[in-house]
Amino acid sequence: MAKWVYLFKEGKADMKNLLGGKGANLAEMTNLGLPIPQGFTVTTEACTDYYNSGKKITDEIQGQIFDAIAELEKIQGKKFGDTEDPLLVSVRSGARASMPGMMDTILNLGLNDIAVEGFAKKTGNPRFAYDSYRRFIQMFSDVVMEMSKTFFEGILDEIKEEKGAKFDTDLTADDLKEVIARYKAIYKEKMGDEFPQDPKVQLIEAVTAVFRSWDNPRAIYYRRMNDIPGDWGTAVNVQAMVFGNMGETSGTGVAFTRNPSTGEAKIYGEYLINAQGEDVVAGIRTPLPITRLEQDMPECYKEFMEIATKLENHYADMQDMEFTIQEGKLYFLQTRNGKRTGPAALQIACDLVDEGKISKETAVSRIDAKSLDQLLHPAFDQAALKAATPIGSALPASPGAAAGKVYFTANDAKNNHEKGERVILVRLETSPEDIEGMHAAEGILTVRGGMTSHAAVVARGMGTACVSGCGEININEEAKVFTLGGETIKEGDYISLDGSTGKIYLGDMPTVEASISGNFDRIMTWADEIRTLKVRTNADTPEDAANAVKFGAEGIGLCRTEHMFFNEDRIPKIRKMILSKTVEAREAALEELIPFQKADFKGIYEVMEGRPVTIRFLDPPLHEFVPTEEADIVALAKDMGLTVEEVKATCDSLHEFNPMMGHRGCRLAVTYPEIAAMQTRAVMEAAIEVKNEKGFDIVPEIMIPLVGEKRELQFVKDVVVETAEKVKAEKGSDISYHIGTMIEIPRAAILADEIAEEAEFFSFGTNDLTQMTFGFSRDDAGKFLDAYYTNKIYESDPFARLDQEGVGQLVKMAAEKGRKTRPEIKLGICGEHGGDPSTVEFCHNIGLNYVSCSPFRVPIARLAAAQAVLNNK
Ligand code: ADP
Ligand code: MG
Ligand code: MG
Repeated sequence: MAKWVYLFKEGKADMKNLLGGKGANLAEMTNLGLPIPQGFTVTTEACTDYYNSGKKITDEIQGQIFDAIAELEKIQGKKFGDTEDPLLVSVRSGARASMPGMMDTILNLGLNDIAVEGFAKKTGNPRFAYDSYRRFIQMFSDVVMEMSKTFFEGILDEIKEEKGAKFDTDLTADDLKEVIARYKAIYKEKMGDEFPQDPKVQLIEAVTAVFRSWDNPRAIYYRRMNDIPGDWGTAVNVQAMVFGNMGETSGTGVAFTRNPSTGEAKIYGEYLINAQGEDVVAGIRTPLPITRLEQDMPECYKEFMEIATKLENHYADMQDMEFTIQEGKLYFLQTRNGKRTGPAALQIACDLVDEGKISKETAVSRIDAKSLDQLLHPAFDQAALKAATPIGSALPASPGAAAGKVYFTANDAKNNHEKGERVILVRLETSPEDIEGMHAAEGILTVRGGMTSHAAVVARGMGTACVSGCGEININEEAKVFTLGGETIKEGDYISLDGSTGKIYLGDMPTVEASISGNFDRIMTWADEIRTLKVRTNADTPEDAANAVKFGAEGIGLCRTEHMFFNEDRIPKIRKMILSKTVEAREAALEELIPFQKADFKGIYEVMEGRPVTIRFLDPPLHEFVPTEEADIVALAKDMGLTVEEVKATCDSLHEFNPMMGHRGCRLAVTYPEIAAMQTRAVMEAAIEVKNEKGFDIVPEIMIPLVGEKRELQFVKDVVVETAEKVKAEKGSDISYHIGTMIEIPRAAILADEIAEEAEFFSFGTNDLTQMTFGFSRDDAGKFLDAYYTNKIYESDPFARLDQEGVGQLVKMAAEKGRKTRPEIKLGICGEHGGDPSTVEFCHNIGLNYVSCSPFRVPIARLAAAQAVLNNK
């Protein structure tokens, strides 16, 4: 017979998978001989079994639960369901990873109308007994029966008002009896049944509710955001009650062994006298700082501090602890490695290394790579943030805090930025044409679009705060005004955006700059010593590149050349090229673009100082460049000596039914080889000049996008080689260069061995590869992905976290095939996924040479690459 239930004394800390975090640590603390109210854990496997058995707890498991109750009765010397001296328990959820959003705890289970009288007599404290029962009725109704809390809060407030009581603690035993009567009446009215009196029924209902809560929408959402698999399940802890609500020598509290916001090595916490459970965090009464306990109950404080220190040393990490004092006697109810802010995580890890408690490797493995994000961006002033109420919230698309004046067009944003204003760009959605305005903005707010929308991707690349997909906004772009949360915001009004939380505030909230402190540098240096995977960056401008180098980038994995064409002084020239009717005209137009491209490349080569730079040739469909505004069309027609109608007709002819799968990528170079020739010339001249001027050892890497067939690559490669050799001869240079391709079409992955005959390197373009493998575009996925999450078809966004089973399979296969043909082939990844820790680990495991990600994610990738090594040990 399988074992579904473990007494605390049967478990230990390393049984987290089976017992959940809370259960495993309660077992560990029991074994350490600490004062823990005893109890047992129903395993995560029982949760899985509950779902497999059609959402039922089998008789076998129920049997083991009641056997464990019998054991607990022996330990406690009380009987569950007894009417004179009942054993009361709490029922607490506890998954492997701590998961807010799951079921709330139920306290005082085992009380009923008769037992409460016995309990009152036995404890000699009727007030306390009735208080415990009314709390139980409220929690059970809310958590198990899903009755709204407001019914019960309303009744409590009513009676407090009737009795002239300020706090719950001012109510007398008789008052509380009245509360209970009214609670039970509303329960009967709403549920159509009496409040359950049989403790066994209460217990099984409560355990069922915990299992059920594993799949509530809040929990599913939390799992998706934190990469927690849906099949883990939660454990349930059933624990003998201790009471912090027995009077002035009782209380309950929470504490951290170090400060979770700053990392300072000092106890940090709060407690409340004569209180139970969540009273401390509920904010009904103001809790006291933990240090006050030293005066109030010196003995308790001393013991508390001894245990806290013992626990921190035992786990060699900062602990988050819950405790209760019952009539002067201290109990611990929980300990776990405490959640902390990014800065605190670094401080604590460095301190623990300095205190000799952990190794550098452990320090590196402890930092949550994703949390580094917070450290690299400005944040709001803590005090100001606390005082402010958001007017709305949406997706936290790109972290950082931004405050400025609202503008509704990219141009207005740019112009006012140039006048020295801080600006926030508010758009229905952004498009590539907005790039300059986006660059000028402190923050970007969009009404439409998900976490991988244009705005989100570009903003993350630039390290600009962005809140996207705020559907509650009512925007009138023409009138330059929007409404949100009952407020009307006009052009020039101040708003503040928190890209890390997605919250939107009215007014100009002060921000503080990120400081890449000594701790950050220490941890990163340790990570670099450990990792083998290289980390490059995706950067299109010298500024982004310089920023990335500051964050530790070892090269550029993806330099997109199209972004260089959107500047105001260049776009007319590219438009001219697109609208040219003959090769000669096109070549003449391209001729005008060369100086710009070359200057950009020179700028990049200079800041990269000889580090490798992969330049991708023109990729997007041409229609993205053509004018849509009447004035632009007229100007272009004039410039080219065409009629407005002719220009419009050509623009219309560029329309594509499915641009993502249309005339783009290397297909542009196949139809217009002169584009590839122009770009090659710009790259080669820039490289040779910077090499000669600065002495950097530059080996250009030219990357042909969207290849699906070897001959296609060969065709474009021939154009590139011919031009490159011509430039070399003109300049008398012997510079070497590499030509490679993106692997972003499934066919290219399948035929990677053939493609490697022509390609000196592969870079996995996992954005497109994901779109083409799944068969849906990331711009449209927002419309249906939510339904996929709620129906548990997908657990995470395949555009944020690489789909390792499907798309990852293609990457792995292509890497192997590529190496078979060309053992020295260089392999990297340059999609949005390159900065996602789980994807970085995957890339390390399949032996890629590097990952490439946006500048602000470079430190995340460096850390994740080190953690990948440690995880494999
Ligand atoms: P969460 O995971 O939300 O912190 P817990 O299961 O830890 O939920 O329970 C919340 C609070 O309930 C605890 O901090 C503690 O104060 C109280 N509590 C839980 N079990 C008991 C118990 N056996 N005796 C007394 N208080 C308890
Ligand atoms: Mg807790
Ligand atoms: Mg692509």
